[in-house]
Amino acid sequence: MMDYAMAEGQRMFIDEALSGRKRRHSEVSIPECGDGSPCFDGRCPMCGSDLDALVSQFFATEAASRYRWCREAFVINEQCQEIGDGSAFDFDLARRLLSDMIEKVGSAANGNVIFLASYGLLMKDAQKYAAIEYLCTAPSNQLTSARGAAALLLGATTAPLMEGTNFVPDGEFGGGFVFNLLPGYNEHDGFRGLEYIDDEALLGEMALNYGAHQISTRLVTNGFKLKRGQIVIAPGEVRPLLITSFDGLSE
Ligand SMILES: [Zn+2]
Repeated sequence: MMDYAMAEGQRMFIDEALSGRKRRHSEVSIPECGDGSPCFDGRCPMCGSDLDALVSQFFATEAASRYRWCREAFVINEQCQEIGDGSAFDFDLARRLLSDMIEKVGSAANGNVIFLASYGLLMKDAQKYAAIEYLCTAPSNQLTSARGAAALLLGATTAPLMEGTNFVPDGEFGGGFVFNLLPGYNEHDGFRGLEYIDDEALLGEMALNYGAHQISTRLVTNGFKLKRGQIVIAPGEVRPLLITSFDGLSE
């Protein structure tokens, strides 16, 4: 499981790798980031780790435990890239899949769905893949049909990263609620889970693959809002979360 200190280590390697590339190629760097002044850049593993912590904080609340959550994670088979390729990674299919899921899962649950997903790059079988994790809940008599709608949509284009469907709080999570896609630089090893990448050249390459973007754009929600900096359930809320603070995290 990634923590903030590991993310800081990765960020150092990424800055090193990018400054090497800067000398050779065009200008690439990530804004400075540190305690109290996050950069919010989506390439920054520290900000990814903070956003991940903010999401985890929500799932640890009593309010979240009142719901039964369906949770799945998968890679998109056709959205992958060879190691050594530093070009922009195409996340279009991942984003489209997520907006389709919100629509289909929502209509299967008569619009009562609460949905949260993140996506990012994941190393698997020596390739870089687009990976997605989502958690959703709906009234208990609609959760199965919501899950069914998601499965139908995912179909053959994806490969699961977990065995079966997990349900929270009933399911076994082993290490936390979130799959750690937001910090952005992990390798998936079979069904054993995630390993932290510490190869400087690969980290730099993956930062280039991501390209400049705001970290909050990799969190896709439906039915959530921010209240005093915390993520809370807000049925019917379709606007994305405008995250501008990570106060109280990173410890
Ligand atoms: Zn940052």
